[in-house]
Amino acid sequence: MQAAPTPQPGILDIALYQGGASTVAGQTDILKLSSNENPTGAPRSAQDAARDAAGEMHLYPNTDHAGLRDAIAEVHGLDPDRIICGVGSDEIIHWLCQAYIGPETEVLYPEYGFLMYAISTRAAGGTPIAVPERERTVDVDALLAATTERTRLVFLANPANPTATFLRGQDVVRLADGLPDGCLLVLDGAYAEYVEDFDGGLGLAAGRENVFVTRTFSKMYGLGGMRVGWGYGAQAVIDVLNRLRGPFNLSNVALAAAEAAMRDRGFAADCLALNTAQRSRLSAALADLGIASDPSHANFVLARFTDEEEARACDAFLKSKGVIVRHVAAYGLPHCLRMTVGDEAGTTRLIEALTAWRAA
Ligand SMILES: *Cc1c(COP(=O)(O)O)cnc(C)c1O
Repeated sequence: MQAAPTPQPGILDIALYQGGASTVAGQTDILKLSSNENPTGAPRSAQDAARDAAGEMHLYPNTDHAGLRDAIAEVHGLDPDRIICGVGSDEIIHWLCQAYIGPETEVLYPEYGFLMYAISTRAAGGTPIAVPERERTVDVDALLAATTERTRLVFLANPANPTATFLRGQDVVRLADGLPDGCLLVLDGAYAEYVEDFDGGLGLAAGRENVFVTRTFSKMYGLGGMRVGWGYGAQAVIDVLNRLRGPFNLSNVALAAAEAAMRDRGFAADCLALNTAQRSRLSAALADLGIASDPSHANFVLARFTDEEEARACDAFLKSKGVIVRHVAAYGLPHCLRMTVGDEAGTTRLIEALTAWRAA
């Protein structure tokens, strides 16, 4: 019998992405705080739009995403021609790597950066390079010092996952200014909506060829299961990515849901207020319990324990109470648990479980 072909270099080096757990054996009343999902659920407006669009599921969706791009452009004050929509921002990250990365090229990202950056880099045959951070905060000088003539992409999530730290605008500009010619700074704005008065770098990308922004509907917009993200950047980059984009990459149901969610400004405002309030409660409770955490700029808090053993013990205790958080050992933070900010009841339940763990 003939053997299957050997995959391209890099593919077998990919460590499989592990999603946040959603079940605990023997537990029925689960509080899932492991994937930074919106505790409010999907907006009603998006659910209604998806239901209406479902009646058209026998028809191919439009290929240009004009309705969704117009909605995004109106809300953010952007040129719709410079927006591209993907199956989550994951797909956009993937296209960026496919387009600009291959053997002999490098991708930089901060030490604790999102796992998808390394996965997409390897899938394209390139070399991912994790650059050390300083106290869980992105180190611009270290990133600049790590660039070589092989560097094509620098990924930076701001706010960052899983650290929840934030890089100030002037530091992002300094990074963009200092990159060599022919190197694209990709600002991953998955959590940008959780920072008040922050455009996620869209303004920077509007005026520069070497900055690209990715955004998602998976977090603040409550559509993680629909898989919609978008990117914004120079027309030349958008034109490249559109060549890689499958013509029907987004279903008509997903397009309808995302467009409705983007136009539902009340929903976004309510989610921002809820997150800010509950995040304060959670951060204060962790401090009261003597559990360290950096100020969070996102919809989760990274709790730091004395060591891996203590983190694992707390994780196990929370699970025994039906509360699932994320042990982030895969991110090089084995002594940390990432806890998504829940709604009021969820936050209360998490705080009570943490308090019980401390008392045990
Ligand atoms: C959740 C997340 C995303 C969003 O990915 P989608 O594919 O849009 O769901 C992107 N980047 C980071 C850092 C994230 O945490």
